[in-house]
Amino acid sequence: MQFSKLADMFDRLEATSSRLEMTDILAEFFKTVEPSELRQVIYLSVGRLHPEFYPQELGMADKLVLKAIASVSGRTQKEVDDLWIKTGDPGEVAEQLITKKKQMTLFSEPLSFKAVVEGLTLIETATGKDSQDKKMKHLARMMHDSGPIESRYLCRIVTGRMRVGAGAMTIMDALALAFATKEQRPDIERAFNITCDMGLVAETVAKGGIDAVKKIGVTVGSPVKVMLAERLRSLPDIMDRMEGKCAFEYKYDGMRVQAHIKKGPNGFVKLYSRRLEDLTSNFPDIADALMRQLKGDEAIIEGECVAFEPETGNLLPFQNVTHRRKKHGMEQAVEDVPVRIFMFDLLYHDGKDYTLMPYSMRRSKLEMSFNEAKDGVDKVGYTTRAIISDEDQAQTFFDQAIASKCEGIMAKSLEDISIYRAGSRGFLWIQYKKDYTQALVDTFDLAVVGAFYGMGKRAGVYGALLMAAYDPDTGKFGTACKLGTGFDDAFLAALPGMLDQYKSEKKPSSVNAEMVPDVWFVPGIVLEVSAADISISPIHTISYGAIKEDAGLGLRFPRFTGRVRDDKTPEQCTTSAEIIEFYNLQESRDSDSSESDNDSE
Ligand code: AMP
Repeated sequence: MQFSKLADMFDRLEATSSRLEMTDILAEFFKTVEPSELRQVIYLSVGRLHPEFYPQELGMADKLVLKAIASVSGRTQKEVDDLWIKTGDPGEVAEQLITKKKQMTLFSEPLSFKAVVEGLTLIETATGKDSQDKKMKHLARMMHDSGPIESRYLCRIVTGRMRVGAGAMTIMDALALAFATKEQRPDIERAFNITCDMGLVAETVAKGGIDAVKKIGVTVGSPVKVMLAERLRSLPDIMDRMEGKCAFEYKYDGMRVQAHIKKGPNGFVKLYSRRLEDLTSNFPDIADALMRQLKGDEAIIEGECVAFEPETGNLLPFQNVTHRRKKHGMEQAVEDVPVRIFMFDLLYHDGKDYTLMPYSMRRSKLEMSFNEAKDGVDKVGYTTRAIISDEDQAQTFFDQAIASKCEGIMAKSLEDISIYRAGSRGFLWIQYKKDYTQALVDTFDLAVVGAFYGMGKRAGVYGALLMAAYDPDTGKFGTACKLGTGFDDAFLAALPGMLDQYKSEKKPSSVNAEMVPDVWFVPGIVLEVSAADISISPIHTISYGAIKEDAGLGLRFPRFTGRVRDDKTPEQCTTSAEIIEFYNLQESRDSDSSESDNDSE
C-alpha cells in the first residue's frame, strides 16, 4: 500500500464530523488493507507505532520538524518558522510548503506504507549524541518522497498531533461493519476492553473473523480497561438498588493501580494507572512486595495505592500519593511518602481468566493468592470489607470508613452477573462518598475544551475555562460549564503550558459547543469540578434534549476543587448519562432558577 492512500483517508475523516460517515470511510478502507498492515494502520491513526499502553512515543520537537521541512522544501528556515508561528501546526506548514512537483524528481519514488513504518521506527529508536540529527534526516527522507497531504500527516504523527476525529467507538463500529455484524460489535468491544490493543483486535478480526476475536483473553502485560462504579445519593438508595444485600468495601482515597505480575526468568511486574500509564517506577516498593508475596506464577490484580503516616499508620489523602508521580528523586520520595496497596480485585491467576466470574469468586481467589510479608512490613493488604444486609449496618460501615480516613464506601453486587465489566461503568459497583452527605455538593471530572482570556487581574492568562463531559454513545464531548472559580495564581500561571499541546485552531470535531471560547482545545486535560447542582441550560450541550427539547444540562456555581485528574483520560470523565442521573436525583429544584445562567462565574 502507498502511504498516500492512508493519508487521503485521514484527510477525508478529518473533513467530516459525522460519526456515521467516519464509520463508512473507515470500514471501506479497512476492507482494502492487507490484514497484516491493518494493525499498524490503527496505531498510526492515533499517531503511534504501538498500542496506547506502550511507553515509547515518537515525540519529535517542533523545531526539529521545521528543520526537516526547510531542508526538503528548499525554503529558508525563517520562512518556515514564520509560517509555524502563524499556524501553530508543523503539519500545516509542511502541507503548504512541500509542493507536488517535489515528488516528481528523478530520485524520488512514491512513499510506501511499509517505508513509513520503517522510517518512524528509526525515528523512535534513534539514540546517542547525534540522535536528533538522525531523526530529522529520517523524517526529511520520508517527506522527500511525499506530497503535501502525506507530509502534513507525517509531521502530525511525529509531533503527537494526530487527531483525525475517529475515536475508539467509531473504529470498533467500522471493524464490525467491515468484518462482522452489528450484533457482534460487543465481542469486538470486549476484546478491546480486555487488551487495550485496538491494533491486535483489528488484525484478529480481519484475519480470523469474530470467532478468532472471541478467543482473545486477558494477558499478563496487556492492561485491562478498568471497571468503574456508578454513584447514588444515599445509603438506602444503594441498599434498594442492591435488593437488600451486597458487599461494602472502604473506598480508599489514593491512586488506582492494576498490577501485572509474572515470575520466572522472563518475569516482570508492571503497574498501570487507570489511564494505562506505566506507574511501575513510581511504586518500586509496591512492585517488589507484590512479586515477593504472590502465590503462584502469574496474576493481574487491582488495588488502591494509598499514602500513610509512618508514625500513626493513619491513611493520608490522595494529594500525598501524587508526590510519588515524580520523574526524579524517586528513591527519596519512596522514603518520604510510604505507601500501601489495598487490593480489591483479581482478574487473572496462573492461566485462568477470572474476568467473567462473579465478584465473590474473584475476591476469595484474591485473598488466597498472596502470602503475608515475611519481614512483617505490610505493604500489601486487602480492602476492608463486610457483607451488608440492612441500612443500620450500612451506616455503621460507612461511619467506620470515614473514621479510617477513607473517602466513603464502594458497594459491590454479590449476584451471579457481577463479572468484571472491563471498561464500563455500571451499578454492579456503586460508590458513596462523604461529599454526598454535604448538601448538594457533588464533584464532576470534566475535560477542558476551551479557554477565555482573563481581564483585570487575570489579563495575560486564561481567566476561565470551557469544560465538557463525555457522551460515549456519540463519542462527543458536550459543554457543561464555564469554569472561573477555585483557581489560585500558581495554577493560572501554569495553565497555558499545561494546555498548549492541545490547542486547536478550530472547534475540534469531537466537541459539541454553542459557546465560543477564545481558544479551543482538543480534550486532553481533566479537572475535578464541584457544583451546587445541575440545571437545564440553553447554552450548554451535554445531554442535549434528554430532559428538555432544545436544551442541554449545565453545572451551577462550578468551582475547581484543585485536583487535576491526570489519572483519567478525557473519555473517562463524567458522562452524559451520569449528568442526567445527577439531575434526576436532585430532590428539590427551584423551577425559577432552572434556566438561569449557570455561567455567572
Ligand atoms: P472515581 O474515581 O470517582 O470514579 O471512583 C472510583 C475509584 O475509587 C476507583 O477507580 C478506584 O481508584 C477507587 N477505589 C477506592 N477503593 C476502592 C474499592 N474498594 N473498590 C474499587 N475501587 C476503589
